[in-house]
Amino acid sequence: MFDTHIHTLPFSPDAHQTIDEVLAVAKSCPYGMCLTEHIDYGVSGNLIFEFDPEEYFKKYRSYRSDKLLLGVEMGLIPGELNHVKETVDKFPFDMVIGSIHVVDGYDIALKEYYHTHTKDEAYAKYLDAMIDMIRKYHEFDTLAHVDYVCRYCDYEDPELYVSDYKEALEAVFTFLIENNKCLELNTRRLNNKTAIDTLREIMRVYHHLGGRYITVGSDAHYSKNIAVNFKEAEKMINEFNFIPVYFKERKRIE
Ligand SMILES: [Zn+2]
Ligand SMILES: [Zn+2]
Repeated sequence: MFDTHIHTLPFSPDAHQTIDEVLAVAKSCPYGMCLTEHIDYGVSGNLIFEFDPEEYFKKYRSYRSDKLLLGVEMGLIPGELNHVKETVDKFPFDMVIGSIHVVDGYDIALKEYYHTHTKDEAYAKYLDAMIDMIRKYHEFDTLAHVDYVCRYCDYEDPELYVSDYKEALEAVFTFLIENNKCLELNTRRLNNKTAIDTLREIMRVYHHLGGRYITVGSDAHYSKNIAVNFKEAEKMINEFNFIPVYFKERKRIE
């Protein structure tokens, strides 16, 4: 199994680990790793989530191996999809993660989105944006962190329940399955029983619709978080008989 979602400095400005730290963890880690640095075109803020892929490949090329792959986490953002396509087509990434980080112009990692919307508005709009974006751009390999909003909101109950958003989740997963894309099982929140239970119900919908392939990613920004909660992820994989995969040179590998 691979940890298919890892960020490093300097290419992901919110990361707190260098590739040397990742390599140190890799020595004793039973999992392969894929670096997936951020590109969120068109988002302005304190940090700029963009890097020059040419620099990335130049600096990291010598570290690339069967166990350490070089990918990208692409923000799927309205108005930027041509730019995304251009970059993905031009550079030899091993794996491309598609992510919804922006909804209606709001960076949804920031509290403002949740403070200006009710939970239902915020979550429904997030899932609508997801469906819209993946229908418009689907040359990614796996769809990241479906429970992303649960991380950053400050609602009393942050969970995204299948019972509230079944139709939207089914639309997203049906699209992924029909277009031969994977779903990411993001392990960041699998240290919490409520989060595990609600995410399991979401994964059950994917499975029920025929989804079999998943990528497993920690979204580590610190070396201590590489492959975090992977034991919990393995339980879920076994429960649903999912096939954990990763991508090398954009080819799915089981
Ligand atoms: Zn992300
Ligand atoms: Zn990430």
